[in-house]
Amino acid sequence: MSAFDDLMAYQRQTEALAQIAGRLSWDRETVMPRGAAAQRSEETGALHAVLHARRADPRIGDWLEAAADGPLAQEGEAQLRLIRRSFERTQRVPADLAAALARTAALSQGKWAEARENDDCAAFAPVLAEILALKREEGAALANGGDVYDALLDDYEPEAKAADLEAMFGALHPGLIALREAALEGAAAPQVSGQFDVQAQMRLARQLAKVCGYDMQRGRLDKAVHPFSSGSGDDVRITTRTSRTDPFNCLYSTMHEAGHAIYEQSIDPAFALTPLGAGVSMGVHESQSRIVENQLGRSRAFTGWLYGQMRDAFGDIGIEGEDAFYAAVNSLHRGFIRAEADEVQYNLHVLMRFDLERALVAGDLAPRDLESAWNDRFEADFGYGVPRASLGCLQDVHWSVGLFGYFPTYSLGNVYAGCLAQALRQAVPDLDAQLAQGDMGQAMGWLRENVQQHGGLYTPRQLITRACGVEPTEAPLMTYLQEKFGALYPTA
Ligand code: ZN
Repeated sequence: MSAFDDLMAYQRQTEALAQIAGRLSWDRETVMPRGAAAQRSEETGALHAVLHARRADPRIGDWLEAAADGPLAQEGEAQLRLIRRSFERTQRVPADLAAALARTAALSQGKWAEARENDDCAAFAPVLAEILALKREEGAALANGGDVYDALLDDYEPEAKAADLEAMFGALHPGLIALREAALEGAAAPQVSGQFDVQAQMRLARQLAKVCGYDMQRGRLDKAVHPFSSGSGDDVRITTRTSRTDPFNCLYSTMHEAGHAIYEQSIDPAFALTPLGAGVSMGVHESQSRIVENQLGRSRAFTGWLYGQMRDAFGDIGIEGEDAFYAAVNSLHRGFIRAEADEVQYNLHVLMRFDLERALVAGDLAPRDLESAWNDRFEADFGYGVPRASLGCLQDVHWSVGLFGYFPTYSLGNVYAGCLAQALRQAVPDLDAQLAQGDMGQAMGWLRENVQQHGGLYTPRQLITRACGVEPTEAPLMTYLQEKFGALYPTA
């Protein structure tokens, strides 16, 4: 056995344990008995302690050093790059800081939920201050003299830089504002109406997941409070939720999560249970879910097919004709909640969080001033005021659990989805004819071939550049949004 083989055998065990930890979380969110919560928290705590110790094991450093001498194929070099990266990050954060972060995050999530319940931003400010201080400390340790926010961002989007994202998002911002203003001045879009049987929603959701290419032999669809996808390789599970009056919530969150899950299911099986065997970044992951949900799933062609499926499943849905259905699926309306926002306003939500969290991390914005900064920015971007904190700065869980640097990956994913959709349309000229038949096979085959199978082999930017043939920019997303919503909401 060479040092490389020893290292990879060790990694496989660590990855297998990490998959088990993920399956415990899936279980907690879906079928765990309510009374098991305290015991489960001890079980996951124990498993995470084992994982942390394995990832910090000094033998990894010795193996990395010895393995670097040997000649390796491209895959081997990429494995070493990812292992070294993870090992160095673990080394840089002192164990007591890592423990304090885990403890504080677990506590502050509960305090955030309580503050949100009471619309009480003042009660949340000291909680935010505490977790923010720890994250700044962690960021400084990781940055090693470099930019603290970039070091935090790197956890979710390797090698991304805030300055590049700022330029990209800055170029999107005015176009998004113009689109939302034009749309909300125009006539309201048609809406579905009626009571939608929950069983029938789940049957259609299952069918849609399969149409997208989700392999039910290596996955399953269940209900949960918040939709998510979990796992890698041969066990990738998704969840959705149902509302009797809004079937789109169930159907489109299923397609979104199926997009994430298909990515994991499509990675080269040779990479299973290794660092290469998972989606390469949050941004690339989100691009795979968004292109399925939006560029394909909310297209005029595919919604034409879906309209027929909806009528078969539910009978009269209060809408006559494919064009009206397409408008209903893509309707823009005034709202406050990021997770419920449409394709245009979603990015405005993310862009403001990106700016606010950078100010928090830099120390330019104090936690006690977050609410007023949030409300001012929201009114400037959306044109109306936030009535209460649960619809404003307390709506997202992210900051309370220390996720700083995570939000921008949502919009980066949309930007990547825009680039990939443009390249896909060039590669598959009759895509709309296929989508109109409810056929996503060739589109998903293109994504598997050009993006998904590679797992962690390339850096995120390399991967998207290889797939598209050009460096990614925000321009294809903006053009797509302007064409689509300009036609749906023509200005008078
Ligand atoms: Zn997602």
